[in-house]
Amino acid sequence: MKPYVIFDAHCDSASRILDVKEELWNNKGHLDLSRMLEYRGYIQCFAAFISPEYAKSGPMARLRAIWQNFQKELEKNKDRIMLCTQTGDVKQALSCQKACAILTLEGGEALEGDLENIPLLAQMGFRAIGLTWNHDNDLATGCLGKKADREGLTPLGRKAVVRMEECGILPDVSHLSERSFWDVIETAKGPVMATHSNSAAVYRDPNRRNLTDQQFLAIVRSGGAAGINLFNNFLSAGRAALSDVMRHIEHFLALGGENSIGLGCDFDGIDLAPKGIRGIQDLNLIFEEMARLGYSGELIQKISHQNFLRVFGFEI
Ligand SMILES: [Zn+2]
Repeated sequence: MKPYVIFDAHCDSASRILDVKEELWNNKGHLDLSRMLEYRGYIQCFAAFISPEYAKSGPMARLRAIWQNFQKELEKNKDRIMLCTQTGDVKQALSCQKACAILTLEGGEALEGDLENIPLLAQMGFRAIGLTWNHDNDLATGCLGKKADREGLTPLGRKAVVRMEECGILPDVSHLSERSFWDVIETAKGPVMATHSNSAAVYRDPNRRNLTDQQFLAIVRSGGAAGINLFNNFLSAGRAALSDVMRHIEHFLALGGENSIGLGCDFDGIDLAPKGIRGIQDLNLIFEEMARLGYSGELIQKISHQNFLRVFGFEI
């Protein structure tokens, strides 16, 4: 048993297992349930990712397809994993050695412009929404959007953030343009998360996904957190190694981010992870490296799971 509790704030595995027709228990991707259970505890956010091909043609139908398939997988594995929306669920799952699944949405297109779909998603178990993927939509401009330099949240996007918070759904800014990011910070009352974004001061990625220091500090002030993304191309310009993961963590720590750093590995959504990291089975290497560098056990636990548990309001 690996002696860590892991909270990973982002993966695309729910979409992947539907598309490639593999199973949650055991599959060829970066992440499956059998590997989660190698750890002392595992809390995984599963994003319903609405890819551009579905963004225009029936994004809600796509969301439902991902959700239904995932429910089926949860049912098949109900002795090993549990959908968690509140503190009691997480406590119960961890106490009987089950993994915890948290649902998130990546791509606000799925709301199809109707804010009453937000309480519906909350009922379905969703706890976070990223308003866009890379491109602009009716809610916001995305990091690679055509209007990213001129516009941020639309009036509907601002209302969506308010409605989300009323329904217990957290805003995820990971794919937003910088203008949209600041509009979310201005609009949100509670914590704001970047579930899978690194430091732009360490490496300015071509997709403009990484966070400037000012952005990260705003997340810290909101009581939120940023999840370290393991995509090679968001870590460094060359072939990334574990040391690059550490550089991003160290930089956020230097900004006072002790309570606002977590993992957002982006597994099953990325082509290439750092050298030596094949999938979730190797996440222990990150925490072993932290221990080797002299990080306290307390800090390692904050980064491995406690910070994101707090941001989601899970008091365990
Ligand atoms: Zn993403």
